[in-house]
Amino acid sequence: MFPSTVPSHASRGPRIVLGQMHAVVLKALEQSRAEGIHLAAVGLGTPGTVTADGVVTGALPNMPDWEGVPIVQELEHASGLPSIAENDANLMTLAEALVGAGRGFGIVCGVTFGTGIGGGLVIDGEIYRGVAAAGEIGHMTVVLDGRPCLCGGKGCFERYAAAGSLEEGYLSQTGQLVAAKEVLSRWLHGDPVAAVAVARFARFAGMGLGNVLNLLHPECLVLGGGLLQAGTKLFDLLADEVRQASLPVISSTVEIRATSLGMFAGVVGAGLLCLRPAPLAAVGPKSEG
Ligand SMILES: [Zn+2]
Repeated sequence: MFPSTVPSHASRGPRIVLGQMHAVVLKALEQSRAEGIHLAAVGLGTPGTVTADGVVTGALPNMPDWEGVPIVQELEHASGLPSIAENDANLMTLAEALVGAGRGFGIVCGVTFGTGIGGGLVIDGEIYRGVAAAGEIGHMTVVLDGRPCLCGGKGCFERYAAAGSLEEGYLSQTGQLVAAKEVLSRWLHGDPVAAVAVARFARFAGMGLGNVLNLLHPECLVLGGGLLQAGTKLFDLLADEVRQASLPVISSTVEIRATSLGMFAGVVGAGLLCLRPAPLAAVGPKSEG
């Protein structure tokens, strides 16, 4: 019965997206009833940060107007079931760490390359959130006073190593605006212009990931996201760049793997998180004593 997909219509604001979510939830309830499957809970992966009480917080660069939306309450209202929501890259990393490419490793870092760059860290089966929003590696500054980012910063990693950078790399050489996946396809078919754009993208991706490895030294790094669907040639190129950009003592001991759960890693992670007890830590300063 699952999975099924519908467009989010993210640019049209929260009300429209929530309407799409409700429709998906109702369809799942209907299908599960028809097939005699008992649904226990609803899990959601979203960009940005969700507080312990289920409210979207922090700027969502790609999804304006989401600040303060009580997304878990909306899900529970739509489904009548207990619900959770979590950063999508955290869920991808959780799924890969527990049942995917990172299974068996204690410290797993997951990074997704798509429209933006998402990052997550799972230690001994638990998502590491810092105070609330750890892992926003797409917004590490990699170029001083660099390209403006939707987050309000400049020179962010995702402005140099996500889909838009591939498109800009191709556009600057040809004057043609070509979608990132098409740039990758042309590269795979031997287009030398696309090769220049991909090489530049890969250098930046390797640099950012090398910084992440040097900072965290995980046992396993799992790469995923829409761009990685280009296949093993892109994965091998990125893995080479990461190894060159991180300290030898680190690169020689990190297992770098491609996602084994693919585009549905986040969905699997949302399901796994539903099975966990509620997190103990709330957003905000810890109380004394
Ligand atoms: Zn940014």
